[in-house]
Amino acid sequence: MHDHRKLGRELELFDTDPLIGAGLPYWLPDGAELRHTLEEYIRGAERRAGYRHVYSPVLGKRELYERSGHWAHYSDDMFPPMDLGEGQQLVLRPSLCPHHALIYRSRAHSYRELPLRMAELGGMYRAELSGVLGGLTRVRSIQLNDAHIFCTVEQVAAEARGALDMILRAYGALGVRAARFRLSLPGPGGKYVAAPELWRRSTALLTEVLEASGLPYEAAEGEAAFYGPKIDVQVEDAAGREFTLSTVQVDFHQPERFDLHYIGEDGAKHRPVMVHRSIIGSVERAVAHLIEQHGGAFPAWLAPKQLAVLPVSDAELPHAEALAARCAELGLRAEVSDRGRGSLGARIRAARLVPYQVVIGAAEAADGLVALRLRDGRRLAPMPAGDALSRITALTAAHSTALWDEEAGGR
Ligand SMILES: [Zn+2]
Repeated sequence: MHDHRKLGRELELFDTDPLIGAGLPYWLPDGAELRHTLEEYIRGAERRAGYRHVYSPVLGKRELYERSGHWAHYSDDMFPPMDLGEGQQLVLRPSLCPHHALIYRSRAHSYRELPLRMAELGGMYRAELSGVLGGLTRVRSIQLNDAHIFCTVEQVAAEARGALDMILRAYGALGVRAARFRLSLPGPGGKYVAAPELWRRSTALLTEVLEASGLPYEAAEGEAAFYGPKIDVQVEDAAGREFTLSTVQVDFHQPERFDLHYIGEDGAKHRPVMVHRSIIGSVERAVAHLIEQHGGAFPAWLAPKQLAVLPVSDAELPHAEALAARCAELGLRAEVSDRGRGSLGARIRAARLVPYQVVIGAAEAADGLVALRLRDGRRLAPMPAGDALSRITALTAAHSTALWDEEAGGR
């Protein structure tokens, strides 16, 4: 595998500037395109699974994190508070959970609304030491793919299983391989919320989900969140080090701390459970992993540039530009690479990571045909441009990792 820091710069996906600060990368246009596509995929999958999206601010009062327990259990990883005078302190948030708990609490809820699935791709901050910062894997500003499901105890197992299914589907679309499934439990030491009965119940629920899934898993002590146990999906980086990409957690603690409730069928108040889940974790870490896993040759639906349109000579340039415009209409990302960028051979080599190379010579231009070269080396016979684009559109819309669907009538 590749080092995402080196490749990310070569492919012009992201970079850093010492004047902005270490651990605060910015995204260049191709990186932003990739990130936007990834985020839209996640939002679409969440919408289809019944999630509703919210936006919440990246700051909150210090009291909010005292209430949530972050201040007592997690403040070493938080930035120092900003003092506004008059006894007010604001904190850059270390997680989205407290905001979502308050959004839930702001309205009355009936049992009929549960499970209530609230999602946000939102910013959070971690005061990493400068010595460990680098690339997209250790950053101080994090965009988290987060969601909280407020549900009854009876609904927890089905919701956790649904989240696990979403994670596995996303891995299929992204071409990501899970190295290990881990049941993360508390370990020795005092950073966990003390509520033995709640830990026992939530651990039993997650164990049940893992057993029913048939996935092989291992239990690991000392890896739980401070408020509850979790299922972690582990992947390996380029150096063979394991890290957590996705997670599903069961939390009885924060609903207590924020006094959340719903009105049950009996007309009385009941306490919901919070299931925290993330499909791809932080966008930064996920993109770093995708760069390393694919060496920049991303699945076609995710690639910042999907088609490189290559006119053989200047005479075909208008045809190439018309084709690129047609791609844009269809929502495909195409770039014309004309003779100003060198010989046809040089342009083909420069576009080696682009899924589809479209060579347009005099014969193709005259007949309205295109000759496709796929990134994997396959060369297809000339075909009508409309056919080629509709086949590519079908594959990318399905989030397929295949470059070409022979079954659909390959010539
Ligand atoms: Zn959470």
